Amino acid sequence: MRLRKVPALSLVTILMIGLSCSGNGHEEAADPSLLPYFQESYGQCRAAFLARADELKRRYPAAEIRSYPLPAAKDSGLFIDSLYIPAGRHRDRLLVVLTGVHGVEGFAGSAVAQLVMKEMVPKWDLDRMGVLILHAINPWGFKNHRRVTERNVDLNRNFGLDRSVFETKNEGYASLQALLDPEGKADPGSLANRFFPLKAVYYIVKYSMKTLREAVLRGQYRFERGIYFGGRDFEPQKEIIDRVVLGTSDRYRSVFVMEVHTGYGERGTMHLFPDPVKSKRTRAAMERIFRGYHVDWGDTGDFYTTTGDLIGYLEDAISPKRLFIPMFFEFGTMDSQTTLGSIRSIQNVILENQGVQRGYESDEAREEVGRRFLEAYYPPSPEWRSRVLRQVREQFPVFVERYASLPLE
Ligand SMILES: [Zn+2]
Repeated sequence: MRLRKVPALSLVTILMIGLSCSGNGHEEAADPSLLPYFQESYGQCRAAFLARADELKRRYPAAEIRSYPLPAAKDSGLFIDSLYIPAGRHRDRLLVVLTGVHGVEGFAGSAVAQLVMKEMVPKWDLDRMGVLILHAINPWGFKNHRRVTERNVDLNRNFGLDRSVFETKNEGYASLQALLDPEGKADPGSLANRFFPLKAVYYIVKYSMKTLREAVLRGQYRFERGIYFGGRDFEPQKEIIDRVVLGTSDRYRSVFVMEVHTGYGERGTMHLFPDPVKSKRTRAAMERIFRGYHVDWGDTGDFYTTTGDLIGYLEDAISPKRLFIPMFFEFGTMDSQTTLGSIRSIQNVILENQGVQRGYESDEAREEVGRRFLEAYYPPSPEWRSRVLRQVREQFPVFVERYASLPLE
């Protein structure tokens, strides 16, 4: 893809749009009944997930709890854990919850999984619906507070039916490489970083926001120390996903996948992003399940497409044989739907990657970059955390009930 030039909006207009949209400021109150679902380390989250899984296993003796080790060069004790409760009688429907594809986003993913297991699964009729929940699909990133894997790979750019995904060219990224993967050690207080928003606005004026988002976020396969790197080969996760998710899906007539993420979008809001939906049958089913809720179908100017994402891969692998319903649940943190929010958000990603790849200017710089990164993917705010789970508690049962009553003929 080439970067396209658009007639310039003025810098002032763009900054004003950004300022007027960002920081709505009124967060709802914290909910003490929801905060216990959140923990502060990968190990704690994993233990809490496994404890909930054990509770369910006592209630549903057919349930299977599995732990798939992911060997890492500099780490041990990393697992993808899964809970599978088979449908009691009829294998009509399979609900799949995927969490932690982007390591650090797994904190919120774990909380969502724990809430679903504690408060929802026991209320569902599992006669005709099986449930499969995966915890920490990228445990190394989760533990080390990175989105990517140990090899700097964004797992959601790393999947495909074959290896052709690794041949994808992203010329837009290549032409922005100096901005996205700067030389030198990371220092949020440097002059270059203080002027980053202005520099970004210059590029936005020159190329348009949509073109830039696409260039940066769609994934690239050339710069292995860069951001949104999709890898040169599949990560070990692919084999586990094939075995667990595809293997289990094969036994059912339909599959509904919910993949939990944080970061993109309006702070505290649960956004529903389907992957670009390829089949009419899927679209019709989704319109039934999500009726009355706002779904970003991808026809707005803001949308960006990605290559190698997990849910798109599952759709390609599963949907020819059975009804497949894919949905991303993305919990916003930085108001990245606004210009300023998305500039801050990309600056965070660049700085964090720069620090990991090239080191930090000082201990303070390291701390500040780490703090900002967590703020972008796992905000400590109890109000934010409560708001995330409040939406899950209110809306997930609606979606699952509608899926359970969806005609399959
Ligand atoms: Zn994500």
